[in-house]
Amino acid sequence: MAVRPDNEAGVVAALGDASTPVRIRGGGTSAVAAPEGALDLALDGLTGLVEHRPADLIARARAGTPLHEIAASLAPHGQRLPVAAWDRDARGTIGGLFAAGADGLRARLGFRARDILLGARAVLGNGDLVTVGANVVKSVAGFDVPKVLVGSRGTLAALTEVTFRVEAVPESTATVGFEFDDLDPVLDRARAAWSLSLAPSAVVVVAEAGRYRAAALLEGPRQAVTAAVDDAATLGLHRFAEDGSEQALSDERWVAATALDASPPPSPLTRITGRSGDAPMDAHRMVIDVARGRFTAWVDGHAPPPPPLTPLFERVRVAFDPTGRFLAGRGYGAR
Ligand SMILES: Cc1cc2nc3c(=O)[nH]c(=O)nc-3n(C[C@H](O)[C@H](O)[C@H](O)COP(=O)(O)OP(=O)(O)OC[C@H]3O[C@@H](n4cnc5c(N)ncnc54)[C@H](O)[C@@H]3O)c2cc1C
Repeated sequence: MAVRPDNEAGVVAALGDASTPVRIRGGGTSAVAAPEGALDLALDGLTGLVEHRPADLIARARAGTPLHEIAASLAPHGQRLPVAAWDRDARGTIGGLFAAGADGLRARLGFRARDILLGARAVLGNGDLVTVGANVVKSVAGFDVPKVLVGSRGTLAALTEVTFRVEAVPESTATVGFEFDDLDPVLDRARAAWSLSLAPSAVVVVAEAGRYRAAALLEGPRQAVTAAVDDAATLGLHRFAEDGSEQALSDERWVAATALDASPPPSPLTRITGRSGDAPMDAHRMVIDVARGRFTAWVDGHAPPPPPLTPLFERVRVAFDPTGRFLAGRGYGAR
């Protein structure tokens, strides 16, 4: 059975009345379909930017609002989301971004989904509506409950509305990089990017089809970006395009790398993640997020059974959802 409420009261009613397990999805970018006998609760009907306070760098939106709609609403104010989640077929929602903890690779350093969520309205498995966090950047609100909802992947509560930070679009952006058929020199160039006069917003290494590519994203005042691009050239890191189309080209590169990082591999390959120092050398494809010190790789073999939940996570899950109403999908707690 499937329901797609278009307002919060509909979510309260759907969960309050539910007698079967429930699987939540937003835009369905990566959510797993509900199994036979479970309720498929689609939250992409809850749309609309509720509030945008440009001077405070804060926005509030219903959880099913598409990411591209948020971007379009912020753009006229010279603002954007500080993270850039995988947005396959433009289906991603703002609630899905927070529920999946989907930072994307292009997120400005220091900003992750968990850093930008300030508050939320959510419905628990028994239909109770809760409000957590605040609508301001600085607050004394006791436990920082919104953080626990980031990355909870539909296992704790149905997010209906989120309040989050936004940021100014930088004056200038450039991607510098280096490609080679051997990983070590590429990793060396990626590390060297940290010594540029402007700290990169993001640094990644992508391994695909026997080629390795380092990319560093430079964002900021035009003069600083231009100086850093010149610096980068002396380190062997070159601007990917010099013909005036570099903005579009670098966006495509970051979008493609983020898609590779976030998407599940074709069967029978397995997606593994870990600390970048443990990156496997025999991966079919791999993205090393140098800035965050982690990798995602597609390797041979069937996916191992999902690991059991840690006792701490299980206690949090039981506290939020004592009757086990919510079914986990891909990732933590999937069964
Ligand atoms: C295990 C996993 C890892 C991922 N890693 C990354 C990553 O590292 N970087 C990246 O950019 N993207 C990642 N993604 C993809 C991410 O799902 C998308 O980038 C996108 O942001 C999700 O938006 P969506 O609306 O399509 O959500 P969906 O694909 O519909 O749902 C994604 C997850 O969030 C839950 N969910 C969705 N909406 C709500 C809501 N309103 N309330 C409660 N739960 C909800 C679903 O139950 C599901 O578990 C990952 C996804 C999964 C499942």
